[in-house]
Amino acid sequence: MSPSSIAATAVAPAPIRASSLVDGVGQALSIKYNNLVYELRAAGHDIVTLSLGEAFFDLPLPRFDDLAGGGLHHYSHSRGLVQLRRRLAAYYQDGFDVPVDPEQEILVTAGSKVAIYMVLLALLEPGDEVIVPEPFWLSYPEQVRLCRGVPVMVPHDVAVLDLARYVTPRTRAIVINNPNNPSGRVHTEAELQFVHDLADAHGLMVIADEAYNEFVPPETPFRACGAFDPELRHTVTVNSMSKNYGVSGWRVGYVIAHRTLIDQVLKVNQHLITCAPTILSCYLAEHFDDILEITRPQIRKVVALRQEVDGQLAEAGIATLPGSATFYLFASLGRSTLRSIEFTTRLLRESAVSVVAGIAYGASCDRHIRISVGTEPPDRVARGIAAVRDLIVATSPR
Ligand code: PMP
Repeated sequence: MSPSSIAATAVAPAPIRASSLVDGVGQALSIKYNNLVYELRAAGHDIVTLSLGEAFFDLPLPRFDDLAGGGLHHYSHSRGLVQLRRRLAAYYQDGFDVPVDPEQEILVTAGSKVAIYMVLLALLEPGDEVIVPEPFWLSYPEQVRLCRGVPVMVPHDVAVLDLARYVTPRTRAIVINNPNNPSGRVHTEAELQFVHDLADAHGLMVIADEAYNEFVPPETPFRACGAFDPELRHTVTVNSMSKNYGVSGWRVGYVIAHRTLIDQVLKVNQHLITCAPTILSCYLAEHFDDILEITRPQIRKVVALRQEVDGQLAEAGIATLPGSATFYLFASLGRSTLRSIEFTTRLLRESAVSVVAGIAYGASCDRHIRISVGTEPPDRVARGIAAVRDLIVATSPR
């Protein structure tokens, strides 16, 4: 039998049965969508890309040959390289009034995404509830489910000060994404104080995701969640080099928490990750301030572009959820009769503009889209906004 006839008669392999836990989890819609955009671009299409979850910066390529210390090709301390832990602890202490012991209260790992997952794994018993306000960063609910917990979503129009009604005897934690992806909202001091009081009153953990903390305009006051709980009784802060340093592909993120929780997360890290990339951690520790010096002016620019686009949207009669930070805008579809997936699909097909469907950020967000202004120049962003406006008009009743 020739090889080709063997191939022709081969029986198709039996489908592999996944666990119901993983089978029940959806793909991350924004990542799935961006993969489609990468494929379209590779096929030669010019896509105005307003869907990516990062801002592109001009950064010099790293040179590793002048890094001090040996072992750069190898595993490093599972809590994270101590030089980087010290830098990060000082960053939170000096910048945000959050005292952090670099030896015991911080763990550096391969991005903040897995950091959040490991924290949830360390905190949740099966059936424990986690309050997740909408619009949410889309991995929170799925990560809670992967830990056999129950995400309790809160519609976007419920005020933070009304969150108490979502607390039940099973509530274990509440997620605060400050500033918020996708709305760009920054929580007020009063809101953060309220969340801490709620945590105290009900014995909840507050998981504060501050991945975009540098992307706050100067006129918006930003308080780190940990500043309200200096003894780290109930606050877990998760942050990342991905956005603030513009190195999302390097996969370096971190957790700040009470040392008893860090010790638990450390075990999970040892079994899942071992350590964050050593050579990159070393580079980040040595160039910690230099990189921020390079990214901060670019961050200011992209945040200013965000405000400009907010103005353009308002002029076009398109409302956005309140927000001033990040490089995202969460825009309403207004009078359009389309739901968010139909809208984004048509926008891509008819105008070659990519944005993310609001439904990815919660059931209450199906009449919104996320627009990211982090990766395109202003003229192309304006072209994208014009296409959004035109499609809303074309799909609104006359
Ligand atoms: N939190 C938020 C709010 C995010 O938007 C992202 C990335 N899109 C992450 C966490 C994860 O980032 P990373 O794993 O690259 O640190």
